[in-house]
Amino acid sequence: MEMFQLRRADDVAQAVNAAAYAEDRQGAPVRFLAGGTTLIDLMKLDVERPGMVVDINRLPLDRIEPTPEGGVRIGATVRNADLAHDPVIRERYPVLSQALLSGASAQLRNMATTGGNLLQRTRCVYFRDVAMPCNKREPGSGCPAIGGYNRNLAVLGTSDACIASNPSDMNVALMALGAAIEIQGADGARTVGIDDFFLLPGDTPQRETVLAPGELITHVTLPPLPAGTRSHYLKLRDRASYEFALASAAVVVTMANGSIRTARVAMGGIGTRPWRVPSAELLLAGGAPSAAVFEAAARELLRDARPQSENAFKIELARRCLVHALNTVTATD
Ligand SMILES: Cc1cc2nc3c(=O)[nH]c(=O)nc-3n(C[C@H](O)[C@H](O)[C@H](O)COP(=O)(O)OP(=O)(O)OC[C@H]3O[C@@H](n4cnc5c(N)ncnc54)[C@H](O)[C@@H]3O)c2cc1C
Ligand code: SF4
Repeated sequence: MEMFQLRRADDVAQAVNAAAYAEDRQGAPVRFLAGGTTLIDLMKLDVERPGMVVDINRLPLDRIEPTPEGGVRIGATVRNADLAHDPVIRERYPVLSQALLSGASAQLRNMATTGGNLLQRTRCVYFRDVAMPCNKREPGSGCPAIGGYNRNLAVLGTSDACIASNPSDMNVALMALGAAIEIQGADGARTVGIDDFFLLPGDTPQRETVLAPGELITHVTLPPLPAGTRSHYLKLRDRASYEFALASAAVVVTMANGSIRTARVAMGGIGTRPWRVPSAELLLAGGAPSAAVFEAAARELLRDARPQSENAFKIELARRCLVHALNTVTATD
């Protein structure tokens, strides 16, 4: 494996061109190295075998800046801890701060980055064990999680090829906030809304996002939120810290005169991607908060849930998680 060090610290184009050139030249995947808390882990397990690693830690992508529209632009190498404790994020986007602080450990959050968190891989045990078949790691080899150990895997968005859940907390908050992902490739830049960023597994579970090989995430942009917006993240898991979500809910609502004007809701732990169902949000908008409305929205969000042999409990857990989060975010002070 080759390690590529940038000659100039500030050269995003150099990093992207090196990745594109190496992809073409050697046919082996190129990986950008950010915090390394996913990549190095998986390289030690022999799950990731890149032909070249491009270290992006010296790129000038470590800033959190206001946008002219009143939102926030977050560099891809901003550490999860710095983002969670940023005063603007804590005050205006508390759901994101709470989601980040509920993940991993303090040490990991000091290393993990915004771009790396977006692309972290599933915690499915078969994916991480090269002695086992796995369609995501080795397309066409099979999925032993179906009918096997699947307690922590998905009930929504699954296919006959893969039932792996997206493990990130941050991604759930970004989905509820309607974030946009800025991407730089050798052929130019583009921006993708988070609703379109993650792919369902279908027949190609090895493809998890719309990123093409060699494309670099440079920034994540949060839109401005209207006055009266409240947000909250609730994570349910087997133990109180250092554990992935069994079910989690990120809720962002705008309130006026005791009614919900708008709502964006995403759930984690239960889907093959961070899960959002706009028809569930429509049930919440326009009326006063009530147990009946929250229950109806939760039923709608979970309508297509399909349990596996060990994880049917997640459907009820997710329902309660969402109702609880909605109660919290709409409670009067
Ligand atoms: C023990 C443990 C517990 C954890 N618990 C949680 C948890 O509870 N909740 C949670 O959400 N997460 C948890 N995590 C996951 C952790 O949040 C991720 O490992 C971390 O966010 C990944 O960020 P990174 O910068 O270290 O990524 P890296 O490991 O550097 O990169 C990850 C992937 O993204 C690619 N990449 C990185 N940056 C870019 C970029 N800018 N553009 C394109 N590609 C890029 C890399 O090539 C690699 O493929 C846990 C991890 C561990 C090890
Ligand atoms: S659920 Fe997906 S990641 Fe897990 S074994 Fe099946 S194909 Fe692999």
